Amino acid sequence: MNDPTRTNIENWLTYAEELGLAPFYRDRAIQEQSNPPAAIAIEAAAEIPGPMPKPKQSSALIAAAPIKPAVTFFPTAAGPTLFEAADRIQGDTLEIIRTDLGECTRCKLHKTRNKIVFGDGSEKADLVFVGEGPGHDEDIQGLPFVGRAGKLLTQMIEAMGLQRKDVYICNVVKCRPPENRMPERDEIAACSPFLIRQIDAIHPKVIVCLGATAAQMLLNTNRSISAFRGEWLEYRGTRLLATYHPAYLLRNPAAKSEVWKDLQKVMSVLGLKPKSAGAAASQR
Ligand code: SF4
Repeated sequence: MNDPTRTNIENWLTYAEELGLAPFYRDRAIQEQSNPPAAIAIEAAAEIPGPMPKPKQSSALIAAAPIKPAVTFFPTAAGPTLFEAADRIQGDTLEIIRTDLGECTRCKLHKTRNKIVFGDGSEKADLVFVGEGPGHDEDIQGLPFVGRAGKLLTQMIEAMGLQRKDVYICNVVKCRPPENRMPERDEIAACSPFLIRQIDAIHPKVIVCLGATAAQMLLNTNRSISAFRGEWLEYRGTRLLATYHPAYLLRNPAAKSEVWKDLQKVMSVLGLKPKSAGAAASQR
């Protein structure tokens, strides 16, 4: 690294320190260093200037050392960027976020959507459900989870002793992907900042991810949902649990009992009792 570049970086770091942002720089650097494959990490380390103590290990010790996986798995929240971390926006509300979203054209999904599906429910909810994206019925009505899968989600919520108005329901992307395909990376990247703000504004006690897309986005992983479904994880200081999407349950009713067990964990944390034995039984 040449001197002007180094000086420039030092100035930025000093500036961040003065703003109180340095810890986020460091957290992010740690996370990024822990994630790349070993070969990339080694290459990056070779470029770090200045004196850097090299570990003193004999070849025998190196040979005996356990081989660590190249990618460190969470539980960690998606690493906040410098600005996400800095601006957990004080006083942000769902209304402000919706206004900021506007008639959004930030990604190509706007070309085929009918209505933006922003989210629905209580701004004071203890429980937020995050799905993947709107389907046909949602696109028509502008509301999340109102089709067949939505009816099943409503039943699940009621079985937990709640009503839809008690929780908040939203998706990773707010416009329907054509033919109900999965959202693409650029679409998720364009839309997810609004989801992050929604979660920050609501500040729930528990987030339930419905399906792999929501869980992978919030947890910053590409692991299969089956690797962590039903486990308590953490997203920016909030408990997070991933379970199967209701649409999956429509295709695989046998998985309902697994989801009900997951929801019972959520109920335990939130101090909820099933509304009725009949409602709960319908989930098993
Ligand atoms: Fe905007 Fe999100 Fe719709 Fe893309 S999916 S156009 S980012 S609202």
